[in-house]
Amino acid sequence: MIRPIVRDVLFLSRKSEPATQADRAVGRDLQDTLRANRQGCVGMAANMIGVNRRVIIVNMGPMDVVMYNPILISRDTPYETQEGCLSLEGTRRTTRYSNIEIKYRDAAWRTHRQRYAGWIAQIIQHELDHLEGIVI
Ligand SMILES: [Zn+2]
Repeated sequence: MIRPIVRDVLFLSRKSEPATQADRAVGRDLQDTLRANRQGCVGMAANMIGVNRRVIIVNMGPMDVVMYNPILISRDTPYETQEGCLSLEGTRRTTRYSNIEIKYRDAAWRTHRQRYAGWIAQIIQHELDHLEGIVI
């Protein structure tokens, strides 16, 4: 189901709670909502559709990957950049890292440990910030 995009900064500033298997419907809503906002959006966190759970979605070219309870394990090579957000106006300066390693669960609740670099790593870091209530 396509959900409306939350723009309430107070709500977006709350730290998200751990996801459970009952939240897999949230992942499907994120897929539908990202697809509907494809033009201005490459990733989303569940709180952007009003659900305060640790679920994110990241566009990786031909597919959108939903991650439950993603955890940053390591990062290296910081750089300065500017980012926009579907929930906010304009762009903001931030520090990101070129390489990251994360752990997450997929919709089948299997654990993945994966390295990402460059643009995809940047999207993941933006969505991980959303889970912490960091609005950038
Ligand atoms: Zn955002």
